[in-house]
Amino acid sequence: AERQLRQLQKMEAVGQLTGGIAHDFNNMLAVVISGLNLTQRQLARGNTDVGAYIEGALEGVNRAAALTQRLLSFSRQQPLEPAVVDANGLLTGLSDMLSRSLGEMIVLETLLQPDLWATKVDPNQLENAIINLAVNARDAMPDGGRVVLQTANAHLDTAQARVAGMEPGDYVRIRVQDTGAGMTPEVLSKAFDPFFTTKPTGRGTGLGLSQVYGFIRQSGGHVSINSQISRGTVVDLLLPRCLEGAGQVPMDQRVDVPQGR
Ligand code: ADP
Repeated sequence: AERQLRQLQKMEAVGQLTGGIAHDFNNMLAVVISGLNLTQRQLARGNTDVGAYIEGALEGVNRAAALTQRLLSFSRQQPLEPAVVDANGLLTGLSDMLSRSLGEMIVLETLLQPDLWATKVDPNQLENAIINLAVNARDAMPDGGRVVLQTANAHLDTAQARVAGMEPGDYVRIRVQDTGAGMTPEVLSKAFDPFFTTKPTGRGTGLGLSQVYGFIRQSGGHVSINSQISRGTVVDLLLPRCLEGAGQVPMDQRVDVPQGR
């Protein structure tokens, strides 16, 4: 739990850092835009002496390119270390830390499928992904609400798989659901884009969902979001079932699905 709390703090620090970088990047773009605007205005007046403005715009572009290069090498994922994972155990291990960080106004509920299939995935990255999703849920519920973490065995037949652009077969589904503000279709269509955020500068980085997406795709899985304004958001992570070493979870570690939702 201590390690996880540190992880959360680290991610918030990374959030502030990248928020600052996005701000710098915007300033560089402003330099480029003004250089190009000045150039355009001069040319419209028949004045072709625009070298200095072009120079300024180029300098802005070069600095922005250098910045994204740095940011990319900073954020480049460490190689994934996949292991056979019982998602129920992973969520159970996270739940105390999560419910504390969600605050008193948000109720955390876990609904764990008994006899959940195993999956093969980097457990640390999966924890990060869940934390990211829980932080988003928290941010969508400033007046409180409910977060439900749910697991399920999911079989995709050919038709269902085609819709999701996946292979048919067995998957482990991890669902993070909130009763928050929800997203407009427009926000939803951009939600996975790196740097897309609707949060105030310094709070949102716009990197959370794009990281979750990248990691889950790299793990052979799929992410989908359903959201309704003022009703809430459901994020589903689908991870391929792993048959190799599918250790049975001992009886006394099982958590049964509570009645009702
Ligand atoms: P960030 O959280 O830094 O903004 P993300 O990539 O995690 O970056 O999310 C991008 C945007 O998607 C958020 O700014 C928000 O508008 C929207 N979003 C993500 N998760 C949720 C959620 N659970 N409820 C409502 N909106 C969400």
